[in-house]
Amino acid sequence: MERKLCILGSRGSIGKQAIESATHLGYQITGISANSSVKTLEDQVRLLKPEYCAVTDENAAAELKLKIKDTNTKLIAGKHSPSELASICDADTVLNSIIGFAGLLPTLSAIEAGKNVALANKETLVSAGEIVMKKAREKGVCILPVDSEHCAIHQCISGNESKYIQKLILTASGGPFFGKTYELLKDVTPEQALKHPNWSMGRKLTIDSASLVNKGLELIEAMRLYDLPEDKIEIIVQRESMIHSMVEFVDSSILAQLAVPDMRLCIQYSLTYPEKLPGLTPRLDLTKVAKLTFFEVDDESFPAINLARKAARTGGIAPCVYNGANEACVDLFLKKEIKFTDITHLIESALDTLSQEQENLTLEDILIADSTSRDFIYKQVKNKEYGSNNRYI
Ligand code: MG
Repeated sequence: MERKLCILGSRGSIGKQAIESATHLGYQITGISANSSVKTLEDQVRLLKPEYCAVTDENAAAELKLKIKDTNTKLIAGKHSPSELASICDADTVLNSIIGFAGLLPTLSAIEAGKNVALANKETLVSAGEIVMKKAREKGVCILPVDSEHCAIHQCISGNESKYIQKLILTASGGPFFGKTYELLKDVTPEQALKHPNWSMGRKLTIDSASLVNKGLELIEAMRLYDLPEDKIEIIVQRESMIHSMVEFVDSSILAQLAVPDMRLCIQYSLTYPEKLPGLTPRLDLTKVAKLTFFEVDDESFPAINLARKAARTGGIAPCVYNGANEACVDLFLKKEIKFTDITHLIESALDTLSQEQENLTLEDILIADSTSRDFIYKQVKNKEYGSNNRYI
């Protein structure tokens, strides 16, 4: 029977690779979505012939509607169109590769509609992990991570009971600024931050990888997916990005997952699990790699992971504040309105000011915490409540 897939965020890096993988697997793509990008969406509609195409930007939607009027694809427009698509689209799995907090409501909508979720939107689990995982359990749907580290851990755990897990070992490439001191990091530019040594990714994720906020987000993502406390998750630098993560068991054995860095492997795994099928990822030649190098994370130069641990320990809305503040900071850094090192200072300030312990969080609490943390950052920067005389510079 032909499998059906809906791809949210089809014009991004993961979205495009998901189209490649799904086409290779012979899946039917029944829905796609993007914010704008009329030309790319028109090409995708003509190539994939999906039943639905969702566009959040109203102007882009109006333009696309004219361009694809000779096709059978139905257009859904507006801010909530990805959520609507996730709900009404005829699909076994919804692959969510929307960037940032905007991916949360579509994830919940897919789960509510009883669809499995291939999740490439880590912010969903960081901001509202408890709500999302609870809803998935209630609905009996599967959430499979597309993030390479979490996909690796999923493979390493492979049926072992959680009581046998000593710790998870998440690997980090170290990013483009590995080895740089805090002083040197003050003056790095968005252009320098956008050059990642091993992975080709979208802009937001590339900045997060440079600041190591990405690893902080992944720490909380792993806690939610595998139901473990933060002190059971270690992070080490694996410079070649060949070991995608590891699991240490109580008997001291460590299982690692290795492959060339290629997200199509993780995408395919999330679609075909528990089956393994030949895919598009090239074979890893270990003799060519020759050596694997490991380092401790430099928490002095890169405070992002310890801030994520603090947010995780605080619980409540703190992880959501961490994420929301970071999204605002990345936006401001890309516009050159703040320095690279301001990112983590401002996140810390948001956490200290806004986070609070809170039991039984509702979705409403999360939505408010997200917008409050963004507003806090923009206000701090606009009012120059940080500047040359204080600690932010
Ligand atoms: Mg990752």
